[in-house]
Amino acid sequence: MVRIKENIDIAPYTSFGTHARVERLVEWDNKHDLVEFLRSEGAAYIAPGSRWTILGEGCNTLFTKDFAGTILRSTAKGIEILEENEDYLIIRASAGEVWDDVVAWCCERGLWGAENLSAIPSSVGASAVQNIGAYGVEAKDIIDKVEYIDIATLQEGVIKGSECKFGYRESIFKHELSERVIITAVCYRLSKHASPHLDYGTLRPEVEKSGDVSPMGIRRAVVAIRDSKLPDPKKIGNAGSFFKNPILPREQVEALKAQYPAMPIYEVAGRPECLKIATGWMIDSLGWKGQQMGRAGVHKNQALVLINCGDATGSEVMALAERICEQVSEHFGVEISPEVNIL
Ligand SMILES: Cc1cc2nc3c(=O)[nH]c(=O)nc-3n(C[C@H](O)[C@H](O)[C@H](O)COP(=O)(O)OP(=O)(O)OC[C@H]3O[C@@H](n4cnc5c(N)ncnc54)[C@H](O)[C@@H]3O)c2cc1C
Repeated sequence: MVRIKENIDIAPYTSFGTHARVERLVEWDNKHDLVEFLRSEGAAYIAPGSRWTILGEGCNTLFTKDFAGTILRSTAKGIEILEENEDYLIIRASAGEVWDDVVAWCCERGLWGAENLSAIPSSVGASAVQNIGAYGVEAKDIIDKVEYIDIATLQEGVIKGSECKFGYRESIFKHELSERVIITAVCYRLSKHASPHLDYGTLRPEVEKSGDVSPMGIRRAVVAIRDSKLPDPKKIGNAGSFFKNPILPREQVEALKAQYPAMPIYEVAGRPECLKIATGWMIDSLGWKGQQMGRAGVHKNQALVLINCGDATGSEVMALAERICEQVSEHFGVEISPEVNIL
């Protein structure tokens, strides 16, 4: 079934909760209905020259103005087992599934691989677009393949995880396949063998509190840490980390580290010539934590998280973001960019 809503306020569909009028929102529960719709009455909405985009749970998207076009949003649910042997299980989750429900499904069955990614607010579709990551694990580590509909032909396609060009919050879906495909499902490979990843932040001590080193035990620990640190978007509008952590040439980072010894730096897997630096630390050291500009602010515990302090407009959030970018650039000589998708 396809549902069309016209001239709606998009605020309830996003975690930032900024208001913007959207000309049309199209939702579907089943990819066959979507294809049928896009072949017929919906064809004009995605025709060349027309404005459209895709939204999942809206947790990484900031609307800064009204959107004169069509928002496509999958509400298709379902998790099914595609393949199983004594070592692993491959599951297919529909794009409109809530990511954390998939993690819970895996952990309840004792399957390994998704537990560190617990409680990331995301749709399944965006888990692949964003290559979501937390506590030393990224979606790419478990994505086996991604199923999609090609906008130009309306044919179904599949791309292997290894071909998705995954990087830090990056994938082929943000580049070559941007505005060319609608992801309909993501297939994940989960291990039946214990493979805990506990060496990131405070995860190990949190897991040790309960002594439960099972997928469910790790999930509980991750949820507890996240609940203690991150604002709940249902109470305070936000999109998690607003900025990316820049990956810079090793020499540049070493020079920064010499100047600012407290600056946290991280190795980047597979890229020994680079290091990653913590944007949150730079913003914090500029005194932004807990500060407000207009009705937008910087979270009191997490300098990387910009918040809607109550009825902020998207432009107010952007004005704050731009001010922070300028100051980081002036002070540290580092250009930071948003992780959030700005519309
Ligand atoms: C409190 C909080 C904590 C967070 N913590 C983390 C974290 O720890 N790690 C992390 O990685 N992120 C984190 N985030 C960011 C966010 O959870 C992720 O970016 C997530 O993937 C967003 O999912 P979404 O469905 O809401 O995406 P949206 O914001 O709805 O969309 C994101 C992008 O995906 C595209 N897209 C969505 N669905 C499809 C589809 N079916 N086909 C094609 N393109 C599609 C959209 O066009 C857009 O470009 C956090 C956010 C919040 C609010």
